[in-house]
Amino acid sequence: MKDAKLVTKLHNDHTSEIEIAPATENTPAITVGGKALFIVGGPCSIESMAQMEAIAEAKLPLQGLRGGIYKPRTSPYAFQGLGEVGLDILSAIRQRYGVPVITEVMAISQIEKLAPHADVLQVGSRNMQNFDLLKALGDVDKPVLLKRGLAATVTEFVMAAEYIASHGNPNIILCERGIRSFDTYTRNVLDLGAVVALKQITHLPVLVDPSHATGKRELVAALARAAIAAGADGLIIECHPDPDRSISDARQTISLGAMADLVDSLELIAQAVGRSIKPQHSFNLVS
Ligand code: PEP
Ligand code: MN
Repeated sequence: MKDAKLVTKLHNDHTSEIEIAPATENTPAITVGGKALFIVGGPCSIESMAQMEAIAEAKLPLQGLRGGIYKPRTSPYAFQGLGEVGLDILSAIRQRYGVPVITEVMAISQIEKLAPHADVLQVGSRNMQNFDLLKALGDVDKPVLLKRGLAATVTEFVMAAEYIASHGNPNIILCERGIRSFDTYTRNVLDLGAVVALKQITHLPVLVDPSHATGKRELVAALARAAIAAGADGLIIECHPDPDRSISDARQTISLGAMADLVDSLELIAQAVGRSIKPQHSFNLVS
């Protein structure tokens, strides 16, 4: 992968630590790629203020909240996200609870609107090789969470990250979210081998999304634990106050209680691989 000059490893065992939110008077900086795991949860789609408040108030042991505002959906007739109304909700939650937020950007035209209100901009699997979008994100002063394409090779994934880096933005977080296979029992196949390989090839932090990888909520916690054991720098997981009523991806979405239990269950595994978990939620609760 000699062309991936910027994202490949500089020396052994080096991972770039990326700042997601700066330290405040009461809280340390939130970073990804350091010793502490970076664990993000939230719904597939932002649906209402009440939904996001319930998640923020649950004081989950997370370092960030996720929620889709612009949703890439297979069917054009499926819920496409709340758009600007969703952005107002996300922005209000971020301000009120001092919590870092992650949301997906689907088009260059959305960057200007989303960037001031998000701490990380997500590029979804379907856009991993949208090279114009990747180039445009090179010019943005926010970390980018780049999800692996549905059937992208490891080399294609690394080269997609190189697009962002080569256009000026070094703050890239990779995310393995499962790849297509012949087997439809799980929505995708979680490729933990790729996680290990990416950690060896690149210096970028690597997250795992066991929600889209499996499509089944009963498989999420065990694969989250396996991901941390394999060396992932964190997780991004879909959770909801009332998972069965999620407008999108209900089947893979876990409850807030299950999310808290899942993070608890990572403790010993994290210790075994030399990582730490922040014991409590790291949000700087403003209200
Ligand atoms: C998501 O995280 O909301 C999402 C749509 O995931 P992916 O791009 O991995 O399918
Ligand atoms: Mn989803």
